[in-house]
Amino acid sequence: MSKLQFAQNLYRLGTESAFVVLARAQKLASEGKDIINLGIGQPDFATPDHIVEAGIKAMRDGHHGYTPANGLPQLRAAVARDLNRRHGVDVNPDHVVVVPGGKPTMFFAITMFGEPGAEIMYPNPGFPIYESVIRYSGATPVPIELREENGFSFNADEVLSKITPKTRLIIINSPANPTGGVTPKAEIDKLVAGLDQHPHVAILSDEIYSQMLYDGQDHVSLLQYPEIRDRLIMLDGWSKTYAMTGWRLGYAVWPESAVEHVTRLCINDHSCVNAPTQFAGIAALEGPQDAVADMMAHFDQRRKIIVAGLNALPGVTCTDSAGAFYAFPNISGTGLTAIEAQNLFLDQAGVATIAGTSFGSMGEGYVRFSYANSAENIEAALDRLGKILT
Ligand code: PLP
Repeated sequence: MSKLQFAQNLYRLGTESAFVVLARAQKLASEGKDIINLGIGQPDFATPDHIVEAGIKAMRDGHHGYTPANGLPQLRAAVARDLNRRHGVDVNPDHVVVVPGGKPTMFFAITMFGEPGAEIMYPNPGFPIYESVIRYSGATPVPIELREENGFSFNADEVLSKITPKTRLIIINSPANPTGGVTPKAEIDKLVAGLDQHPHVAILSDEIYSQMLYDGQDHVSLLQYPEIRDRLIMLDGWSKTYAMTGWRLGYAVWPESAVEHVTRLCINDHSCVNAPTQFAGIAALEGPQDAVADMMAHFDQRRKIIVAGLNALPGVTCTDSAGAFYAFPNISGTGLTAIEAQNLFLDQAGVATIAGTSFGSMGEGYVRFSYANSAENIEAALDRLGKILT
């Protein structure tokens, strides 16, 4: 029996089931089972060559040391230029803090505001790390319920009605994981207008999928609302857009009053992102963008295949996935719970997916399919599911 005395908050930390399902799928594959992985949320493309080359060159050029904790100045300037190009906004590079991936911004923002007695609102179903870290911080998680009939967008009136004097932070995410939902501009306008009455509330807008939209939609960034800049944390990064999940590179634009706090958290936590990766990040932002467009064309083609194929399965209905690379079908007509469906799909059909309940209680009745896999594999997976669901 261990005598180690771990801190109590460790027992409140959740996890991201995608990694658990990935491990299970890999184990089954190593036992010789033919597994199609529609579970993991990472592009199945290689990082474009010119980005890889920039990373290698930085290593050869001797960029082996620490960088400033908030990121190389030339990288932060490139981020500001990119945000101007994409969202038409002016961002001070000194408000940009570069971190190892999208997740650290989440962890820092939530632990910066979360403590016992505080309330933090988060999307449910949503990226599981939000609720996990809110609980870890000791704050009370207050769900923003996302419903299929609203295209999995939040309802601004509902969000505003849940704000109390204890609310410190509201987390929103569009385009969204796990639903592929995109929040309409009208709902964001309404939320921002209503926040005027609640100046004590900060917003974390997770825009990691900002370049992954379909049908010609434009991304609405919360940076486009100058009235909330002094309390907005806008998270974005390279992982999804440039197929760079393993490089670990992300950033956020922080309110001026928080920059010093988050920089100190970086110094305490990881010192800085590794230097070659930061040079690769500059090449990604400043180089040709056609690889991004090409990747999105593939995702769009697969999106159409998967949404149509899921709708053709008995007991399954699936709304269009408006963004990211996830379909979130309603499987309640099969009579299975989300976790039963996940297990059945993996065990009987060799198709790895993730139960909607891994993304919060509101995910019951849904399963997340990532279409970051080839069109052939998606078709084969749908075929296999057709055989076990009839
Ligand atoms: N935010 C959302 C909504 C995500 O889905 C993910 C990854 O799946 C992240 C952030 C984290 O990205 P990263 O791998 O860069 O930490």
